[in-house]
Amino acid sequence: MVKLRNLEETINLKETNDTELITEIQANLVRTGYLLGSQEIDGIVGDRTLNAFAKFKKDNFMTDPYLVGKGSAKVLLELPEVKQGSGMPTNGIGWISSRFGPRGSGQHRGVDIAANCGTPVYAVANGKVQNIVTGCTVGDHSCGGGYGNVIYLSHSGQSYNETRYAHLTSVSVTSGQTVTKGQPIGTVGNTGHSTGCHLHFETRISGTAVNPLNHINPIV
Ligand SMILES: [Zn+2]
Repeated sequence: MVKLRNLEETINLKETNDTELITEIQANLVRTGYLLGSQEIDGIVGDRTLNAFAKFKKDNFMTDPYLVGKGSAKVLLELPEVKQGSGMPTNGIGWISSRFGPRGSGQHRGVDIAANCGTPVYAVANGKVQNIVTGCTVGDHSCGGGYGNVIYLSHSGQSYNETRYAHLTSVSVTSGQTVTKGQPIGTVGNTGHSTGCHLHFETRISGTAVNPLNHINPIV
């Protein structure tokens, strides 16, 4: 892991064939939560790596989404590790397309994980189904209050006491049901206020949304 640290010239991620450097970049994107699973570290630049790197640069106020220079290398290496490791509610599938925090004129209350519709969604901890919404169809942006088909879980013994899984295609749990960590509860979708297949995932403490990346441990 020295190439990124000792980078001398600016390279274009879209054009490089430097497998070792690509591997280091991917490993750091996984470490910082921009890519969600160790299976993403393959030394090959694909759409997910490009999207993740571009997102990392945008979040850190840097231009030229695909250029890797001394400055961006340093920022990437120094970004703190996120606690979720390779888990998250899609169990390492997908990439973070939007982080928690200010977005546009408002506040994004969760993280968005872009993944194919139909990708399984798992409970991130033991808990109980507090509420579900089903029956939302793609294109009805107000359904479920914008969440579309959604699952609300309550938890105890965690650093958060509620999780929400929104925009689902299908919901496979019922209200009042107990769930265990890692249990499939539904599938990724595009229902509610959504314009592409993704999971909107929230963690809340006493009703207040907090950054999931600071609270979620790997589910497997
Ligand atoms: Zn979202």
